[in-house]
Formats: sequence, C-alpha cells, structure tokens
Amino acid sequence: MVYIGVDLGGTGIKAGVVDEQGNIIAKESCPTGVERGYAPVIEDIAKLCTRVASRAVHDMSEIKCIGIGLPGIYVPATGRVPFCTNLSWHDVPLLSEMRKYTQLPVFADNDATVAGLAEAVAGVSAGCKTSVFVTLGTGVGGGIIIDGKPYSGPHGIASEVGHMITVAGGELCTCGNKGCWERYASATAIIREGRKYAKFHPDSALAKAVNGDLDAIEAKTVIDLAKEGDPAASELFDQYVEHLCVGLVNLINLYDPEIIALGGGVSHAGQFLLDRVNDILPKMVFYKTMPYAKVELAKLGNDAGIIGAAMLGR
Ligand SMILES: [Zn+2]
Repeated sequence: MVYIGVDLGGTGIKAGVVDEQGNIIAKESCPTGVERGYAPVIEDIAKLCTRVASRAVHDMSEIKCIGIGLPGIYVPATGRVPFCTNLSWHDVPLLSEMRKYTQLPVFADNDATVAGLAEAVAGVSAGCKTSVFVTLGTGVGGGIIIDGKPYSGPHGIASEVGHMITVAGGELCTCGNKGCWERYASATAIIREGRKYAKFHPDSALAKAVNGDLDAIEAKTVIDLAKEGDPAASELFDQYVEHLCVGLVNLINLYDPEIIALGGGVSHAGQFLLDRVNDILPKMVFYKTMPYAKVELAKLGNDAGIIGAAMLGR
C-alpha cells in the first residue's frame, strides 16, 4: 500500500505518493491561487492527487488514503478548517469538499505537526516514540508526536507551541497576545533585535555588513557575524538562544520527548546553533542529573510536508 501526502501552502500545492517507509515515489505541484477562494483550491488538490497517483500506481485501489498538511488548524471531528491565515480560509469544509472528488479516507493536520511526523517516521527522530519538532522561521511552529502519533489535542491547537507565553507582557504577537515564544525564538526576532542594535550602533559590524541599510539585516546577517566572533552579534545570538531554550525546556518539562528536532530557517545555523543550545539548555532543565531530550537538526527539509501528510493515515 502507498499513501498520498499533500503539502498545502500559501503559494503552492505539492503532492506526493509515499511508501510505508516514508520514501517519495512520485511528486507533482501546482500554484495555490489563494485569491480564487477555497473551492477551486480544494478541487486542484484532488486533481493533483489523481495526477500524481497515476504516475506511481496502476490502480487507485493501491492508495490507502490522502493526508493534507496545511498552515492552520484542522478539526477532525467536524472535518473543517476554522482558520488558516495564509490561505485566507475561515471555517472551510475541507473534508466535505474533498468528498466531492474522492472516496479515499482523507486526513489533515497542521503543517508543522505533519513535518514532525515526517521526522519521526523517516527523519532525525525515526525510531523515537515521543518527539517534538520545532520550526524556527517567520514564526515558530511545532509538531508533537506521542507514541508515534501526532498529538494536536481535541481542539486542534496543541501544536501551537509558538504561542506559549514565555515573557509576561512582552512583545506584541500577530495572534494579539503579548510575550509569545515566537516573538523571541523566530528568525523574525533575530531580525528585529539585529536592526534595533544596528540603529543605535551605526559603527557596529552589523550596520557595516549592510552598508547602513538596516532593512537589509536578516537573521543570517546576525548569525554569520556571530559565527565570525563579532562580540555584539554573538551577544544578540546568545540572547536569542536563551529565549529559544526557555521554550525548549518548557516542552521538555511537558512532554519529556526523546528528541527535539529543530527545523526552519534559523536551523540552517547548524552545529553553531546546537552548540549554543547545548551550552544553555542544561542550566535550565529541571532534573539536572537525569537524562533529557537530545536537541537535533531536522533532516527532511522541504519534503517533510509531503511525507508527514502521507503518514497521517498510516
Ligand atoms: Zn502569539
């Protein structure tokens, strides 16, 4: 048996046929075209599934199910997507729309949850029963895998780890609350702090790296300077990692995972990031003499969305 996984994003839809072990056999993609509204987008998802299946199998009966990863929340009990900001979806009947085109079982979940599942099946946390995936990008997303299964909670919101409040009364978040973890642990946080620093220190290496054009400061600008040993950038990066570790230790205390896998743009800092995390995290864990989660880099990159979505119904 094989599975279809769909990675539904704001700009593109990717679909793949995936085997039991999480290997992609065939892959197809098309633009999302969000502005058309949800119905034609879901019709395109179904068409893409048929197209990719025809390349991988002789008969649709060889496909066990379809899984969809989306940048929002899905409630299995209702088959609906309450909201999905990137797609401008509000209360979309995803399951009943899919039912117009396919009789296959359809599963869906948050894209970070799905990426976490992919890592647990075929990536860095393969073989672990309990793992947490954290994506450090524009925001912070999460995927919680317990006993090999994604845990999204009865209301579908358990993976919204980026919105755990780690600084009471802190930075205003896109969600309307203040002090959410993602305001401090995302790439956006590094950019914000980097630009703030450079504004007040026009002679700093950071300001010079972008020839004074502060809007050109990216997370990579700060990280690269920190890697080179620039004191100010190192200080900014250490502050970032400290905030990152506050959330990581909360996840460790809540779920006691075997592995926490870090993905997303900031994880491209690689071993440099892991080394700093491994300096700071041990000072924050509760049981200092007990083993706790290893923090590793996610392995699957862009394919995680397809693989994990496919594995939702496994
Ligand atoms: Zn928030």
